[in-house]
Amino acid sequence: METNQKGLNTICTHVGELEDKQHKGAISPLYMSTSYAYEDVDVKRYPRYFNTPNQEGLCKKIAALEHAEAALIFGSGMAAVSTALMAFLRAGDHVVLQQALYGGTYNLVNEEFSKYGIEYSFTNGWDTAAFEAEIKENTKVIYIETPSNPLLTITDLEAVASIAKKQGLITMIDNTFASPVNQNPIDFGIDIVIHSATKYMGGHSDICAGAVASTSENMNRIFQLAKNFGGSLSDYTVWLLERSIKTMGIRVKAQNENALAMALFLDGLEDIASVYYPGLPTHRDHAIAKKQMKGFGGMLSFELQPHLDTSKFQKSLKLIKSSMSLAGVESTLLSPTKTSHALMSAEVRAEQGIADGLIRFSVGIEEIEDLKEDIVQALKSVKREMRVSINN
Ligand SMILES: *Cc1c(COP(=O)(O)O)cnc(C)c1O
Repeated sequence: METNQKGLNTICTHVGELEDKQHKGAISPLYMSTSYAYEDVDVKRYPRYFNTPNQEGLCKKIAALEHAEAALIFGSGMAAVSTALMAFLRAGDHVVLQQALYGGTYNLVNEEFSKYGIEYSFTNGWDTAAFEAEIKENTKVIYIETPSNPLLTITDLEAVASIAKKQGLITMIDNTFASPVNQNPIDFGIDIVIHSATKYMGGHSDICAGAVASTSENMNRIFQLAKNFGGSLSDYTVWLLERSIKTMGIRVKAQNENALAMALFLDGLEDIASVYYPGLPTHRDHAIAKKQMKGFGGMLSFELQPHLDTSKFQKSLKLIKSSMSLAGVESTLLSPTKTSHALMSAEVRAEQGIADGLIRFSVGIEEIEDLKEDIVQALKSVKREMRVSINN
């Protein structure tokens, strides 16, 4: 099946599948070979040329999911981010990046770009004017991330794409938090879509991978650099990822539903000071989210009332684990200040509104009543402990 005219779950299940001609098995065979014949063949195949049979199959699936002409898969999300950016930037060029970015991307830009003579600016905010204000004579790329990490701010895809088109700039988005289930940026005029497939595409916290999707022309440019950088993914992981994506549509929809229910629930608790979720009508960017997202995603963040101890709360949870990373079928929490944003200075965190007590919640597919009960018992336990220590 090669068409992207089919519906989401049909694409997830079938596009790019390899036929088992020998045994007629139901699923794609796994080709682990790193050595292929070079004579009398159409394609010279090699893992680092990104063209083994399993890689090609999975790339077709991801391209179809993102309404793109072509895609490439990488050994990690950061391999995808760095290769895409470097393919369109050279010494003397300038890139405008959204202020709120994944920590790894922020570090890549801050620690590496000046070594290569690439100039960069971070926007001061998320609205159209903030992007326009940073564009210079030598700007080549605008790089965004929406919903953002960890405050789930929303950047207007159409608005950013139209500014870029007027000035002939390439737009790139990190679409990891939304997943292709909830948001297809190419439909809104964005040029290049990047994913950490370690997150929703993998979905079971057991795969590290990345992906980029765009036009064939842009992907060819990225491929020319990718084969030199060498960030290809092993075929075994490619095969596992293809298997994982088959259920991505139903997983992410369950996570959307749970996250919305959880956001409403937390919002109604008096022990919770604030909830950030783009699906809440009270969220600052709810209207833009509604315009460009099919679902609001499985990520939210919240703060306890200031008198409650956040780390005691996290330790009191029984079902919901405190753990790095996100997007697995299991619910997890983390403190951005202690993990994903630990390398960022306290001033920059404060500037971006990331409070020390902020908790980022990756909502899984468990029964929502069990998740709510876990939150309630942990809050009770924190308050009980605090009463005990006051009485002592
Ligand atoms: C995890 C993540 C990345 C980096 O992906 P890795 O697979 O860890 O390299 C990039 N962007 C976002 C939004 C992420 O959550």
